[in-house]
Amino acid sequence: MTSTLEMTSNETFPEWTSKSRIVGESCERFVMQNLKCCRCSSKNSFRKYKINEKAKDVCCLNCDQVYQIKAKGMTAKSISCIKEKNTEIKIIGGDYKSTLAHLDENIDYLIVLYDKLSYNIDVFLHIQHEDVNEENIIPRKPLSLNAKRAGWQGCYLHFNRYRVKHLDREQQIRSVEFKYYYYFKVIFRLMWIIMMGFFVYYYKY
Ligand SMILES: [Zn+2]
Repeated sequence: MTSTLEMTSNETFPEWTSKSRIVGESCERFVMQNLKCCRCSSKNSFRKYKINEKAKDVCCLNCDQVYQIKAKGMTAKSISCIKEKNTEIKIIGGDYKSTLAHLDENIDYLIVLYDKLSYNIDVFLHIQHEDVNEENIIPRKPLSLNAKRAGWQGCYLHFNRYRVKHLDREQQIRSVEFKYYYYFKVIFRLMWIIMMGFFVYYYKY
């Protein structure tokens, strides 16, 4: 069962033109609205940090676990590889030095995997901070001197120990209900059109 990522429009944040930023923000909202805390299973317990807070996106109000949320668009095939074979996953991280500096702050990662084409989501990955160390953070080449942020160095995050989490049963039920509601609406409309057809036919002839 899947859920679809609803894109935050850039009317909400008109200064945001980059697609990755819009996807990132949409994923944060998705997590806040749909996921339970991976540590304590509380519902609706996520509180969002201020935009631009480094390395921290949401915190669970019940158990105080801090999470960093990442989004990764993949093909359906690569997602099923992750689900079935637990293959290594590589994502783009932020600033290399500050990512290293935040290592001892016990921040868990949540990676929302979405289908590149349909934006459907059916799993996300939970990486516990106990499984994250320097080896998971790979430096990228610093930006060239001509770049806007010359000398800035980003990183990649490589993970091979993670838990694949499926959207919980309750959400599945909700989306089944939604599906039935949708079918019901379609059938109702068809019946209405047929009845109107009969009505017009009856009075015309
Ligand atoms: Zn919690």
